[in-house]
Amino acid sequence: MSRYWSPIVHRLTPYVPGEQPKLDKLIKLNTNEHPYGPSPRAVAAIREAADDSLRLYPDPNADKLKAVLAQRHGLTPAQVFVGNGSDEVLAHAFLGLLKQDHPLWFPDITYSFYPVYCGLYEIAYETLPLADDYSLRPEDYLPLAGRRAGAIIFANPNAPTGRLLALTEVERIVAGNPDAVVLVDEAYVDFGGESAIPLVERYPNLLVVQTFSKSRSLAGLRVGFAVGHPDLIEALERVKNSFNSYPLNRLALAGAVASVEDEAHFRDSCDRVISSRSRLTEQLSELGFEVLPSVANFVFARHPRRDAAGLAAALRERAIIVRHFRAPRIDQFLRITIGTDAQCDALLAALGEILA
Ligand SMILES: *Cc1c(COP(=O)(O)O)cnc(C)c1O
Repeated sequence: MSRYWSPIVHRLTPYVPGEQPKLDKLIKLNTNEHPYGPSPRAVAAIREAADDSLRLYPDPNADKLKAVLAQRHGLTPAQVFVGNGSDEVLAHAFLGLLKQDHPLWFPDITYSFYPVYCGLYEIAYETLPLADDYSLRPEDYLPLAGRRAGAIIFANPNAPTGRLLALTEVERIVAGNPDAVVLVDEAYVDFGGESAIPLVERYPNLLVVQTFSKSRSLAGLRVGFAVGHPDLIEALERVKNSFNSYPLNRLALAGAVASVEDEAHFRDSCDRVISSRSRLTEQLSELGFEVLPSVANFVFARHPRRDAAGLAAALRERAIIVRHFRAPRIDQFLRITIGTDAQCDALLAALGEILA
């Protein structure tokens, strides 16, 4: 606290990221990073870009990256926005599209950055409770007499639950709210979900946001993107160009383009995570855990007889870190990132010992 702070800074409650410990040898299953590395072609492209040309500013419009993303998703570059991680893309969307006269709607259990942006940009919001099985009820997101959303945002698959909403249900929400922007945060969609991107041609109110941090194993590079109608994209460009007109640096642009061009590595490394997820889900169930059906690169699990905070602490003593949220309705769950098979085995062995 300082008397020099602006009033808004006094009121902020910043997002708390999962810890990034400076210790080696830890088994780190707390922030949903990919267990396998990025495309070797992306790493080579970054190395190649690390030369004298770094004295020059990067392309402020990221034309090459927008072009490869547009091509991959069957869109035009005018339907694509790129940012420094999807968190930055989301921030611009909150200010440029989701801040409206009516409140923003999102689930009570979701990515905990959403209320943080609402605080930063002074956006009124309402949270809508997930069902008892932690699924999202699409009917709750349709306008009723006297009650409508200024805009809607949800993650699909949801975080930290991992549950997927079927594409037909996503479409029901988008189609049912023609006067509101519906933002679908697809940070985890490549691990078995069906993207809403094909719907953007038909719905001018749909914005889909994805990231290179999870499925492309480039969390350290900070690249994310949004796709939608060119009018929505223009709102994001206007905010970006009023904030930082060179968000993606030259290395990030080079690495991201090469990553998109290496479809084989992308598919293969996601498939490996998906098979480890089925195996981990099965083995956690054998240990007595209830595991929510996950379509992400993590599972959300609780043990009927063991306190989640206690389990997280016991795992930590064994140099394994998982994420535990001290939040209503989910404080008995652990969110466990899918690691390599060796990491999953170490986790299961440690849990076996702790539960014995
Ligand atoms: C990880 C995550 C993001 C942010 O990803 P970055 O691109 O690394 O900023 C956004 N939304 C959800 C739901 C996430 O889990």
